[in-house]
Amino acid sequence: MLVVLAAMTLASCNSQKTNEESASPADQIRLVDFAPVVVNNIPVTKVERAKFPIIDMHAHDYASNEEEIAQWCKTMDQVGVLNTAIMHCSWIGRPFEEYVAAYAPYKDHFRFWCCFDYSDMSPEGIEKACQLLERYHNELGAVGVGELGDKGEGDTYARPGDGTGIHIDDPRIKPLIAKAGELKMPISIHIAEPYWMYLPMDETNDGLVNAVAWHVDTTNCYGYNKLMTSFENAVRENPNTIFIACHYLNMTHDFPRLGALLDKYPNLYFDISARVAESAHTPRAAREFLIKYQDRVLFGTDNGMYADMYQTIFRVLETNDEHFYCPELGYHWALSGFNLPDEVLKKLYHDNAERILTEYK
Ligand SMILES: [Zn+2]
Repeated sequence: MLVVLAAMTLASCNSQKTNEESASPADQIRLVDFAPVVVNNIPVTKVERAKFPIIDMHAHDYASNEEEIAQWCKTMDQVGVLNTAIMHCSWIGRPFEEYVAAYAPYKDHFRFWCCFDYSDMSPEGIEKACQLLERYHNELGAVGVGELGDKGEGDTYARPGDGTGIHIDDPRIKPLIAKAGELKMPISIHIAEPYWMYLPMDETNDGLVNAVAWHVDTTNCYGYNKLMTSFENAVRENPNTIFIACHYLNMTHDFPRLGALLDKYPNLYFDISARVAESAHTPRAAREFLIKYQDRVLFGTDNGMYADMYQTIFRVLETNDEHFYCPELGYHWALSGFNLPDEVLKKLYHDNAERILTEYK
């Protein structure tokens, strides 16, 4: 009876609403403040440590001093990460030589990745950049190239030279891509952004709840599909170079499209870094995709150096938990776990990376 009364009261309130009176507390909540708490009585699994040893193929120079590097190593030991790729790029970190020196006392925990030098785009300049790449590889231990990044304006992640206007299929940098292949250095590259960031930021936007600021303005630069074409050109034209598309190639909304590229190009791999949350709101599709492409997927974080970040990613990959939130990954929508089989986890966490970084040599 009480329920009926409550429903009737609600109905009668609604019927009396005018536009002016419609403002309820819910109308005042900003999306950025949306922080729901799960009410369901469902399993909550804390994965303290990864089920198998991990090679993290995507991180950056997050530590600002030696103490933080030492603490990061302790955290890696605690959660089960054997070693981590420290990638060079413009938005974080110092010159390549400097961070290699800073991490040197802990180099058993880290592998270094460097960028292309675009500071002189003449054929002679590119030849010098090839020599620099070789020096970074031979003398400073760079195992790969990255993180390169093109969100429409060219490689704006580049260091030390500015790569604006230089897309990955630019014929001028073909010698550099070939040199990376010759040195067996995979190229890790961030192309575009998640698809919803290109769509109008209105009430129909499927990702709006996460962040309005993540919208991509494509005025005067490449849009999503043009970037994908430019990337595919490079992968096709350089079959002896391995490309790692960071962040599922920003294609978690369309796994069949990403799968078609993987089917077509054996030199293409992808990492899951910084997009675990993008894939974990469609857990069944993501699980099916990761099982199908278990030989091409690489583990990556790209999200700092704290234990709870790693553990949330493990929870997504390893458990069957449903409907949990992950403010530590910057997302406001609910995630569910993939419950990946052990043989897939082993490849994703470790074996594929090990193969690329060692057997590929
Ligand atoms: Zn990154």
